[in-house]
Formats: sequence, C-alpha cells, structure tokens
Amino acid sequence: MHPISRSAAFVAAVSCSLAIAQPQIDYSKLTIKTTDLGHGVYLLGWQGGDSLILVGDDGVLLVDTSVAPMGDKIVAAIAKVSSKPIKLIINTHAHADHFGANEALARGGAAIVAHVNLRERMAKGQRIAAFNQTVPPSPAAALPTITYAESMTLHFDGETIELFHPTNAHTDSDTLVHFERANVIHASGTFGGDGSYPFFDMSSGGSLAGTIAAEEKMLSLADANTRIQADEGDPASTASLRECHDALVTIRGRVQKLIDEGKSEDEAVAAKPTLDLDARFVRPGAFLTGDAFTRMAYQSLKSGVSSPAAR
Ligand SMILES: [Zn+2]
Repeated sequence: MHPISRSAAFVAAVSCSLAIAQPQIDYSKLTIKTTDLGHGVYLLGWQGGDSLILVGDDGVLLVDTSVAPMGDKIVAAIAKVSSKPIKLIINTHAHADHFGANEALARGGAAIVAHVNLRERMAKGQRIAAFNQTVPPSPAAALPTITYAESMTLHFDGETIELFHPTNAHTDSDTLVHFERANVIHASGTFGGDGSYPFFDMSSGGSLAGTIAAEEKMLSLADANTRIQADEGDPASTASLRECHDALVTIRGRVQKLIDEGKSEDEAVAAKPTLDLDARFVRPGAFLTGDAFTRMAYQSLKSGVSSPAAR
C-alpha cells in the first residue's frame, strides 16, 4: 500500500477499551451495523465509540460522532433511516472516538451539547496517558456550542432526553444519556462493552468510585426492560448492569482491604481479588484482565479519588 494512503487509512486507535490491545485500526475496513431500538432510536455500531441516533420529524439527534475517518460512514448509515439533517449532537465524553467527527457532522448547522469539561478538554487539547495519546486542540467548529454542569433535559421529536454528569467516572467529562420513551440509556464509557469490566481513564479524571456511582445512577433510571448502551457491543440489559455494578462493589471492598493491610500494588495483584469474577467479566484476549483491573482499582482507591453520587 502507498505510504500516504496507508497513513490515511490507519489512525492510532482511540477506542476507549481497544487502544492497548490494538494500537492501530484500519477504519476503512470497518462497517456500521444499524440496530433498531424502537421509538426512532437506532444504534450505529462499529466496535468503537458506538453512536445512537434518534430520528423523526424534527430531524436527527446524534449521540457521539465517532472518529474523524468514520464520519462519512456515520452519515451514510443515518441516510439509510432518515433523509432529515442532523440537528443536535451529544458527545458523551472527551475520548476522540466520541467527538472525532464533530466538525464534519455539525457542518450543516447542528448544535453540539456536552459537559463543560469536555469542551475544555477539546479546546485545550489533551495528553491521555492511558492511551499514550496526544490529542491536539480541536478547531472551533468542532467544539460543543451548548454545555452544562450537572444535568440537562432536551425535548426532541416527542422524546425526552435526560443528560446526567457522573463525577470522575470513565473520565471527568461523561454524560449519561437517557431516552425516556425509548427506554434506552447511553452509558458513555461507564459500562464495559459486551459485559466486560469497565475501563476508567484515570489520566482523564476517571475513577472506580465514580464508575460505580455512574452505574448506580443508571440503575436508578432503569426498569427491567431498559437497554444500556456501552461504548461498543450490543445493548445490555439492566440485569447485566446490576451484575457489573455488584462485581465492582465487591472488588472495591476486596482491594480496599488489601490496601488497608498495607499490601503493595504487586502484592494486591498477586492476591487475585477478582479471580471468581474473571470468567464472567474478562473477554478472551481482552487487555482488561483481572490483574489489569486490579491494578486500576488499586491505583484509583490509593489515589483517594472518590465521587459523590451522580445527580
Ligand atoms: Zn472512552
């Protein structure tokens, strides 16, 4: 392959959980799988920062714009279910697989809504140590035009969309998006795709305590039939969210006990505090193994980052 076209096709992976396992992804080969979730809500899945759309007479509301090289594919996938323009964009957090195509997708005049910390991170540029990634400042046209601090309610095509900011969860810029009529919640990065342990990016303000609080917030919004959308993978059930939440609480207790006993990080890992849970929460070949999750939990608890309950 010609070096130039190769560099255009291969972009450093920025997916919230794939980054370490797969440093490069050929986005030109990815396809988008569209799933109808009912009441005008669709999942656009591409194994990264998966998007949700709400389509209706008011136009298209888009949750997460994916990486820049996927922007055209997102547009094509939307065109298959709606001929209306994108009116409103929500970015769930400041990882580039969730805002990368903002500029292109907002060009038609869409407003971009996000947590205030996300706009700040995009405007300043970021060094994301967890992904060994430097993200340059975003151009003005890509920045959110509407920001909020704690919560916000949007009304679009007869749907009520509630936005909630969980503090220090997957990052410090997360938005949980609840479509009330469709009974769907986008979890930002606070819930692991395909039922795996969730990744929290401590280099971007994330924490174990905040991730647990975010999951508690979603459980408070959900009923037995709610679909919970993670970063990637098919929508999950409330029961699997509860299972994940309970496992995180168990692990937090065990790792905190090891810390209280004066164990080092390596000693805590050697104690295998996740052993009975790994079969359920570690996907084959995933970078987020029980040991890796124990290290994250240890570092997060040791750092003392705690989170008030998400409002
Ligand atoms: Zn992320």
